[in-house]
Amino acid sequence: VVAVRQSSMTTKALQDANTEARSERQKAEVASAAKSDFLAVISHEIRTPMNAVISAANLLRRTRLDREQREHVSMLLDAGDVLVGLLNDVLDLSKIEAGKMQLESSVMDLREKLGSLGRLWEPKAAANGVRLKIEIDPGVPDCVRTDPLRLQQMLFNLLSNAVKFTDDGSITVSVDWRDADSRLVIAVADTGVGIPADRLARIFDSFEQVDAGTTRKYGGTGLGLAISRKLAEIMGGRLTAESVEGEGSTFVLSLPMEAVSKPAAETRRKPV
Ligand code: ADP
Repeated sequence: VVAVRQSSMTTKALQDANTEARSERQKAEVASAAKSDFLAVISHEIRTPMNAVISAANLLRRTRLDREQREHVSMLLDAGDVLVGLLNDVLDLSKIEAGKMQLESSVMDLREKLGSLGRLWEPKAAANGVRLKIEIDPGVPDCVRTDPLRLQQMLFNLLSNAVKFTDDGSITVSVDWRDADSRLVIAVADTGVGIPADRLARIFDSFEQVDAGTTRKYGGTGLGLAISRKLAEIMGGRLTAESVEGEGSTFVLSLPMEAVSKPAAETRRKPV
């Protein structure tokens, strides 16, 4: 009898703890939705005057300026870009959270897109003494049907992180195709600072940064991975990470998509 009573008390205590945890989670979800709504409204309000500031700075850049003035205008434009990037991230996130993110679907030349991504990031990595390699498996189709801008946004985010957090060694982008479930798998592996094991699961949360606080060394907003993971999920795929602190990180983006064969120039129908 004693044993039974003890076990039923344990069950009750467990139920209470579960209910408490659930209501804490609900409270946290409501607070997070309110925060995201608030940020969306503010971002929208800031974006219009910010665009006006950037347009004015662009006009100013075209006027006759001395070296020092030109530098100041450049600083203005760089800061404007950062701010508009942040506003767009907040707006994207709130759109995703409200279930209002609309995906496009069009044919994208995969090798061309990966090539231009490489050309963009290779010099930035090289500036830190880091080698960027893009390895595309021969089984990867030339063209796919997907949302090109969103795919580009996710890859841009993964590469910008890899470059930001690696100051020695290499960054390797491996691209593979899984025929069985028509899936593109892109792994971005770096030999950078890595992520402590107890923080790894949380880096996909909004505004989460390993190196947070006012004295932090790296720039950024902590929104890129949250947006990228949610975009991957909306597209029916996933984004995962593995890392060893001090050795490097690997992010794997896996997305289902339709392979589209590239029409060979000679078989294309000529206009009559
Ligand atoms: P941001 O880069 O703007 O801070 P992200 O959401 O893209 O925001 O990344 C969140 C955090 O995850 C980063 O601040 C960093 O602490 C960690 N992180 C992301 N990518 C890497 C990486 N390749 N190497 C080490 N840490 C990373």
